[in-house]
Amino acid sequence: MTAHILLVEDEVKLARFVELELSYEGHRVSVFHDGIAGLGAVREEKPDLVILDWMLPGISGLEICRRLRTTGDKVPIILLTAKDEVTDRVAGLDAGADDYVVKPFSVEELLARVRAHLRRTQESNADLIQFADLSLNRSSRQVYRGNRAIELTAKEFDLLEYLLVHPQQVITRDRILEQVWGYDFMGDSNIIEVYIRYLRLKLEANNESRLIQTVRGIGYVLRE
Ligand code: CA
Repeated sequence: MTAHILLVEDEVKLARFVELELSYEGHRVSVFHDGIAGLGAVREEKPDLVILDWMLPGISGLEICRRLRTTGDKVPIILLTAKDEVTDRVAGLDAGADDYVVKPFSVEELLARVRAHLRRTQESNADLIQFADLSLNRSSRQVYRGNRAIELTAKEFDLLEYLLVHPQQVITRDRILEQVWGYDFMGDSNIIEVYIRYLRLKLEANNESRLIQTVRGIGYVLRE
């Protein structure tokens, strides 16, 4: 499992050492030595994982962490620090860091943490279905349009999930009825129109573009 890892560490020798170790594991590594460049690079390069030193010139690793989380960035973050006070650990985790490695650390420990976080991301990505700026997580049952969380009822969720699994395909109303409501559904088939309307209202609440299109006389398609 190789990944793009972004390292922000102002001790040049340590940064080089960690970079070499991560590269040896097969990762692509971007290294920055100050906080401002590091923060900009995380936003620009969208790495799979970030390793941040706490004390950095410019802005601290803690502040980078806070700013990324404020803007909804969920990239896994491991903080490196010489501090070993319990309150510092709490501050790091409060700022949104996923993990914490105290200097001096063994590189094996850091590599093990990196592996663990990458594995976790990969597992949760398997449950994630995306289309345009819409994302749906099958295990946590969370739905987002960009950074906006959307609350759906169980049936709305099932319907949206079905459409998301078949993007760009015209799906007939009968098929939706069979797959989402079940073969033995005996109610009014207008139920689909009603639920599509609910979904559109929720998905377009901030005037976002329409993603669920009507194909007149046939059914629906998820298309931009
Ligand atoms: Ca430092």
